[in-house]
Amino acid sequence: MKKLFLSTLFVSVSVFAIDLPELGSQFDNLLNANDEKKIVFQILGRVNQSDSVITDVEINDYINKVGRELSLKGTDEKLALKFFIVNDSSINAFAMLGGIIGIHTGLILAANSESELLSVLSHEIAHITQKHLLRLFDSQARNSFKSYIGLAIAILAARSSPQVASGALAASSAAQVQNTLDFTRENEKEADRVGMEILSKSGYDPKGFIDFFQTIEKFNEFSTGAAPSFLRTHPITGERISDIQDRLKDFEFIQKSSNIEFHLIKAKLKAFLGDKQTIIGHFEREIQDKNSLNEIASYYGLAYAYLRNNKADQAMQTFNLIEHVDHSMVYQLKANILTNNNRFQEAYIAYEEGLKKYPNNVSLITGAANLMIALNQSKQAIEFLKKYSELYSNLAIIHELLAKGYSALGLRLLEHESLSNAFYYRYNIQEAIIQMDLATKSSDGNFYEKSRVDFRLKELKREAEILLN
Ligand SMILES: [Zn+2]
Repeated sequence: MKKLFLSTLFVSVSVFAIDLPELGSQFDNLLNANDEKKIVFQILGRVNQSDSVITDVEINDYINKVGRELSLKGTDEKLALKFFIVNDSSINAFAMLGGIIGIHTGLILAANSESELLSVLSHEIAHITQKHLLRLFDSQARNSFKSYIGLAIAILAARSSPQVASGALAASSAAQVQNTLDFTRENEKEADRVGMEILSKSGYDPKGFIDFFQTIEKFNEFSTGAAPSFLRTHPITGERISDIQDRLKDFEFIQKSSNIEFHLIKAKLKAFLGDKQTIIGHFEREIQDKNSLNEIASYYGLAYAYLRNNKADQAMQTFNLIEHVDHSMVYQLKANILTNNNRFQEAYIAYEEGLKKYPNNVSLITGAANLMIALNQSKQAIEFLKKYSELYSNLAIIHELLAKGYSALGLRLLEHESLSNAFYYRYNIQEAIIQMDLATKSSDGNFYEKSRVDFRLKELKREAEILLN
């Protein structure tokens, strides 16, 4: 019966039906590489166009770094996980097909330690390694491949903008759709168990699971209304807690304090997402009352809070108190303050110093390039960016900056080619084609460049046919 359903499903997935995978008792092979890619492009394409997604380079870099660490050390699989952060104050995280994991800013801000944050990420990664999402294909006929994407996008829309969602969800109520995407209790239990292993193998304290429950409970007590969404999909039952506590005995005790980066990320989010008028006072009080989780991070956040309120002098004075801290994010803060003070030469030096210590740091690289372009040094900026184009070939922001540089130099073919690459790595293949088409029609460019963009345009069109059908 199950097999019959699956093969019908594959027929409906048109071109992909040609290679019917072998169906084991599990759904391991249900989605082939093309299906996965299709899901990733359709979902992340929408995600990247949303205003609710955090685009800050440092914050994304951090989440992807710790996420990659968990999947490399914590699992035996080669997972190509993709993380994104939604600007939403509720405490939530969710896994989707295609190895996609979304995290709400509310969750990052609520976590009191890195282990707490990573416990949730591990739990979500476990949903992916245990293939819980494929269960969705097993229930009802409407949960086919295509409608999954539709549902996932509807849920995303509901998260970011209720108005958009009401249209997308017209056919069924939001709750009904959400229920379809929920996991079973058995799935949740397994995600806890496997998640604890992932966390522990990665060198973090699996007690983070329990700590995070307590954090959420505290949130509920002083209700800010932030917790319910996670609790609804992940109810903290007595059974779940005792299960986890039971398993904790099997793990070696790991005492690991949070990386400073965790605290800096939180402070930066708070400085930019908090209420503009009161955010300075918030950090000041934290420092005065000595009740910050990490004092350096409080000063760091205060400096950004000043900067956000156009008080660059005070930002600099605050920065001076943490200047000794050796971290790429501290160099970036310095460069940002100096740039805001119109002290461009010094800002540039700050980038140079930072890059000497952290040569591959994306935020410093893109910050430095941006500054060069702003100072009419686009040629140097392009040379500089090209040094990293292999290492970060799939990073949209590198291509965006290259496009900006080429545009300043009036090099149309190269500008459109870079824009096309940028759109491609933001999973927007339609725009990528439009830009590559413009590149082929540019009147400049040498023979070699012309044939390169011609070839790439054909390639993109072929790919779009697969991805958009
Ligand atoms: Zn879960």
